[in-house]
Amino acid sequence: MAAKKNAAMSFNQSVEQYFDKAAAVTKYSKGLLDQIKACNSVYQMRFPVKIGNNFHVVEAYRVQHSHHKTPCKGGIRYSEHVNQDEVMALASLMTYKCAIVDVPFGGAKGGIKINPRKYTSNQLQKITRRYTTELIKKNFIGPAIDVPAPDYGTGGREMAWILDTYLTFSPSNIDAYGCVTGKPVTQSGIRGRVEATGRGVFYGTREAVSNKQDMKALGLEPGIEGKTVVVQGLGNVGYHSARIFQEHGAVLVGLAEYEGAILDPTGKGFDIDKVMKHRAKTGSILDYPGATNIEDSAKCLEIKCDILIPAALERVIHDGNAKKVKAKIIAEAANGPITAEAEEILLKKNIMIIPDVYLNAGGVTVSYFEWLKNLSHVRFGRMDRRYHQSASNDMLNVIERLSGSPATKGEREKVVKGADEIDIVRSGLEDTMINAYRPIREVWKRNKSVHDLRTSAFAVAIDKVATAYLELGIFP
Ligand code: GLU
Repeated sequence: MAAKKNAAMSFNQSVEQYFDKAAAVTKYSKGLLDQIKACNSVYQMRFPVKIGNNFHVVEAYRVQHSHHKTPCKGGIRYSEHVNQDEVMALASLMTYKCAIVDVPFGGAKGGIKINPRKYTSNQLQKITRRYTTELIKKNFIGPAIDVPAPDYGTGGREMAWILDTYLTFSPSNIDAYGCVTGKPVTQSGIRGRVEATGRGVFYGTREAVSNKQDMKALGLEPGIEGKTVVVQGLGNVGYHSARIFQEHGAVLVGLAEYEGAILDPTGKGFDIDKVMKHRAKTGSILDYPGATNIEDSAKCLEIKCDILIPAALERVIHDGNAKKVKAKIIAEAANGPITAEAEEILLKKNIMIIPDVYLNAGGVTVSYFEWLKNLSHVRFGRMDRRYHQSASNDMLNVIERLSGSPATKGEREKVVKGADEIDIVRSGLEDTMINAYRPIREVWKRNKSVHDLRTSAFAVAIDKVATAYLELGIFP
């Protein structure tokens, strides 16, 4: 389907266009596709918060895009740019994301239109608690209804405030801790949630770049090692992505934050933790020793590299700069970093785009694990870690006796161990990202009218949501 030639397409229209392009290669009726595409519930609210002697009217949203599975799931962002169109787009992406990684939730998203940097921690707490109360009043939050999580501008601290507010109103609900995810580990959160999106970006990209044939088409060798990488945005997602790529031998040639970007002239690559320390000390990534400064942060998107990771906000690659992108692969860690108009330009340039709906699903995947933990009221590994440890110890003893040669200390340490919560979370996440990539690639390669991974990812998602609706019997 040809793209609409409309330069002013909104974020939600962009997502709808991606949907329509993929819907055209599926077999479902228009009515069913319309139902899948539509946002089911949009709650726009305004509430007063007293800051000093003044009342501030706060504008906020919660959008539940799909109820084909419940609860609904998705983060809450705090940003001055929050608006209804944006929250609707992000909620829609959550539905497709959950479907792709087989997380049994409908999509949702929330947003509060504030710049969190302009408020004190106490003021943010007031706003967060009032927002949660508004959600409770309209039955828009709960472990079986709608489960928020962190997004841009929020983190464990805000999730703990949401939890405490919810608990105050539902003290007898034994599952109340599952009303929100991304909580601090000490507040019934799960180990590995903070790094989850970044780690998922790594696993997903590693999967995509492991295919010889696909890499040959880009003029690249398979594997992460030695690949040059640029990361835009060093918040939670960008930082952990950069750290894990570096750990696996990627070369960080460019890093960007909103104050500017830095370029590595040595070819050896940056050490992300040293750059973060420099930023914490000086307040900026600029002037990092030995680095070349790029004052205009957006220019980092134009640096020559193998893999460009936009990990900040949506719509950073648009029809104004898409032509100048020199990366061979764009790994979408952020939600919606490429506009529909830009995507057409990038695809013509033979750039491989690993789409957000698949690639940044690690966050919600581990949120799902956290929710499961909260509903089962037990930490993963608690019941069986020691059992598996002693079973593998017994097994190794038998092997040693039968073979007559003892294992080295290192070998024994590697083999004899039971899995802790963090091990289970990481292996569950890795398995999820590997398994989810296969059908996406298959649709891309097998269907002659599918030319890119985003269209195939959306087609996979539509298929799963449509199947759920058909099985529910709503569309006989
Ligand atoms: N905000 C994250 C996202 O966009 C995580 C959502 C969640 O964990 O529910 O995927």
